Amino acid sequence: MDYPFEEKHPEWQFAFVFNTNRCIGCQTCTMACKSTWTFSKGQEYMWWNNVESKPFGGYPQNWDSKLLAMLEEVNPGGQVWDAGKTDGDKKPYGVFEGKTIFEAAQKRVGPEGPQVVMGYLPTDAEWRHPNIHEDTATGGKGRAGEFAASTQLPEHRVWFFHLARICNHCTYPGCLGACPRQAIYKRPEDGIVLIDQSRCRGYRKCVEGCPYKKTMYRATTRTSEKCVGCYPRIEGKDHTLSPKGAPLETRCMAACVGKIRLQGLVPINADGTWKHQPDNPLYFLIRERKVALPLYPQFGTEPNGFYIPPRWVPRGYLEQMFGPGVKHAIEQYSCPDRELLAVLQLFRAQREILFRFDIKKGPEIAKIKVKMPSGEQKEQVLYNDTVIGYNKFDKEVVRLTIQEPTFERPAQQHVNSI
Ligand code: SF4
Ligand code: SF4
Repeated sequence: MDYPFEEKHPEWQFAFVFNTNRCIGCQTCTMACKSTWTFSKGQEYMWWNNVESKPFGGYPQNWDSKLLAMLEEVNPGGQVWDAGKTDGDKKPYGVFEGKTIFEAAQKRVGPEGPQVVMGYLPTDAEWRHPNIHEDTATGGKGRAGEFAASTQLPEHRVWFFHLARICNHCTYPGCLGACPRQAIYKRPEDGIVLIDQSRCRGYRKCVEGCPYKKTMYRATTRTSEKCVGCYPRIEGKDHTLSPKGAPLETRCMAACVGKIRLQGLVPINADGTWKHQPDNPLYFLIRERKVALPLYPQFGTEPNGFYIPPRWVPRGYLEQMFGPGVKHAIEQYSCPDRELLAVLQLFRAQREILFRFDIKKGPEIAKIKVKMPSGEQKEQVLYNDTVIGYNKFDKEVVRLTIQEPTFERPAQQHVNSI
């Protein structure tokens, strides 16, 4: 793939996993971000974190279907994966044969010549509603094809799901590639992508070039702004919450009510690949168990946000959104093995970033029957294992068992009894 700048990679990469199966669309994350970063004049419409209800919701409206249609127009019928070309960990699901936003730009020549990064500028009306059609389901009578029914819940015959989104702090950021002022940079220490406000002249090329539409223009300052990855927290400089300087998860992650989020930092090799570290919770989920997948990987920016896909949604829709790994990811999640079940407990268990986990084996506690997506019945054996999470300084910061401990209140009268 072509990229407008020379290859260079950070030492660590900001990354996250969102479990869409658990998101309740409460927008607590959205408000945590809003009240921290975008509450000022000129930022009224800015939602660096947003949660949209798919398939109809989008912020800005139709951001994904519009770009998918543009790519299809440039490369009709060619935006496909070759699932046969697998190569171990490097290409676990095959190869994308289509055009990324960088390659497609060369093919789409407008009156001003080709763009550096293919994209479009959303209209004011498209930015107006953070989640229009909130919670509108699809399926049921009168709908055809993929939208006709749910995969897992035929008794309802309708489906939707919440897709929480922030900037993906991409490995090959579209925003950075499109900026003619070179005002956007990727931090070498943690891969967070920032806009230098003193260099930005508000040309909005980044708004055009970010396929996820995560840079936004501020009319009062005439500059563009975006998610800053709560970098003081990542640097461990929030002294009120982290007196010893341990990196903390961002505001949106730490506030998540549904416990769908796990954020972290993964160590990176000089060539941009992830250093082999199977006891890093993110590495384990994304590279070892492959239960979490990137959002629209075909765009070509290598986003560092990963999603556990929702089990009840038609597979064709999910494969367009997360690529060909969907079937494997959903199978893993439907009946997690012993280690995966333990690591899944770490989501939102506390607010310090976890750099390592360890599992202490416990006794068998149950055997349950699980209906797999294929319809096959599987037996899952549950063990009361203990999972322990460690912070940057290898200090234990969380310890959880698979079986939730219960506490029985003594029978006597309590002051706060009803
Ligand atoms: S999601 Fe968009 S704004 Fe964020 S780094 Fe990627 S291209 Fe840039
Ligand atoms: S706080 Fe968590 S559960 Fe609520 S909308 Fe945000 S991501 Fe979903």
